Amino acid sequence: MLACTIHAKEDLRIETAAMPAVGPGEVLVRLGAGGICGSDLHYYFEGRNGSFVIREPLIPGHEASGVVALVGAGVTRVKEGDKIAVSPSHACGRCEYCREGREQLCTSMKFLGSASLFPHVQGMFCEYFVMGERQCYPVAGDVSLGELAFAEPLAVALHAVHRGGDLLGKSVLITGAGTIGCLTVIAARLAGAAKVAVSDVLDRPLAQAREVGADRTIRADREGDALVAPQFDVAFEASGSFAALKTCVAAAKKGARIVQVGTLPHEPLPFVVNDLMAKELDLCGAFRWGIEFDWAVSYLSTRRVDVRPLLTGQFPLREAVKAFELAKDKTQSTKVQVVA
Ligand SMILES: [Zn+2]
Ligand SMILES: [Zn+2]
Repeated sequence: MLACTIHAKEDLRIETAAMPAVGPGEVLVRLGAGGICGSDLHYYFEGRNGSFVIREPLIPGHEASGVVALVGAGVTRVKEGDKIAVSPSHACGRCEYCREGREQLCTSMKFLGSASLFPHVQGMFCEYFVMGERQCYPVAGDVSLGELAFAEPLAVALHAVHRGGDLLGKSVLITGAGTIGCLTVIAARLAGAAKVAVSDVLDRPLAQAREVGADRTIRADREGDALVAPQFDVAFEASGSFAALKTCVAAAKKGARIVQVGTLPHEPLPFVVNDLMAKELDLCGAFRWGIEFDWAVSYLSTRRVDVRPLLTGQFPLREAVKAFELAKDKTQSTKVQVVA
């Protein structure tokens, strides 16, 4: 079978790999679609993602759907031929965080397609991979494998909104109109936000944000003045830029909440804390997701959430480099996927 492997910065190879063996309780999955995420781009273009550095060949990919090819002994949750969303998160289920329902904070987390551990936990940009049945979510209906591969990023957005607190009737700012920013627009509307504004420094992402329901879009570089006055109850920083976090702090009303969902560059940041103090702002982080993955699968399978406008293109695994190049170019693409 084919596997897409990153050996080092800008060294991505399509290799043949042995078919993985399926043990009891495990499922062999044929890749349906795999979304290229910001972290995959960091691994490919920089050889690292924040503090996680590639130290051995890494198969990227943590946003995937597939079709069940074979089930191991004792598997009851899925059967051969099922269309599934795949959860890339394998929490231990035993540590204090897992037990209090915050598995994303698990102290022994294995997250697929990540160099956070060594040996690295391999991802899903390959023709076939093996999952525990707990990570397989069977879906009926006519939702496509491409849409189902949005379960992971949609779960990120739902978790961010969850961390933002009650949004009913609130005014919301989202900085960054990439996949996560746009999905946060959708999630904020689901949660009842009265007004959703989105800022970015490119026109195409802002047009996408409007398409999925943003009420107002702002070019942060040209119309920054619009974001100086305090006007939002809740802000989501989804761009991974420190300037955008400062914008969130400035544009937040007194007593507002700011949720950091994007990953900022791996460097120390100067930070003015006085606004947090004087405006009584709550600044909190949103990391991956827990139960929200289940919600994401359900919203996608009924198309209560329609992600089709965000899918720019799909490429066969063999053309992964092309797919990564397009995924990096935010003037051309939102979500790009590889398919088997
Ligand atoms: Zn992702
Ligand atoms: Zn745990």
